[in-house]
Amino acid sequence: MNEFQKKLRNKYPDIYGKVGLSVKEGWFNLLDDLGSEIIEKIKKTKEFKVLQIKEKFGTLRFYVKIEAETDLKKEIMNSIHNAEKRSSIICEICGDENAKQYVNQNLHQYTACDKHIEDNSYTPVEYQQLIELRYNISIEKNKIENLLKESYPNISIEIENKYDKLRNNLKLFNKFKEKGITPKKNEYKIYVSFENSDNKDVFDYIINDNDINLTNLFEKIQKMI
Ligand SMILES: [Zn+2]
Repeated sequence: MNEFQKKLRNKYPDIYGKVGLSVKEGWFNLLDDLGSEIIEKIKKTKEFKVLQIKEKFGTLRFYVKIEAETDLKKEIMNSIHNAEKRSSIICEICGDENAKQYVNQNLHQYTACDKHIEDNSYTPVEYQQLIELRYNISIEKNKIENLLKESYPNISIEIENKYDKLRNNLKLFNKFKEKGITPKKNEYKIYVSFENSDNKDVFDYIINDNDINLTNLFEKIQKMI
């Protein structure tokens, strides 16, 4: 058990005595403050039991079983919810209260000050952009594939996006970021071949403004047949 966990246990045995703390040391003050805020109040409850304390998506989760009169229960739950909220700006490592949230390479969201940002991390906004990019690519691929299949049922298609490799590769996304390149969804390589035929071809294809117009591609494919 960590030193900070021991301290909390000794100081507030009724709160932290019987529960594991799956959080980092930076939240010591946060949990200490919460302890001092609710310690007198929980003595007036019929039942108060901490079920789990952990970090999820970079913020504190504090689960309790509580039985008390309505107002008292509300007060205690308010304190707990405020602490959970406050955790989103407190560095998990050092407790600095100007922290922000990031996503690391293992796609784990965490809260850190400037000093404790892990290498190759993303802000949640950047991460969101990556998720949207992936989503848009898969939607567009499906559309292209369906359009081609409708016109040429005997065709075999493989569609590659220039940024496909970003799928699970935040490191690569970071390289793009450093070079100031914003990956776009719209550059594709389309591999086409026909069943029972040796004809194979690959087409570079760019989609402008969400307008999937495959006329040019159809013309090229027509020549293959
Ligand atoms: Zn820090």
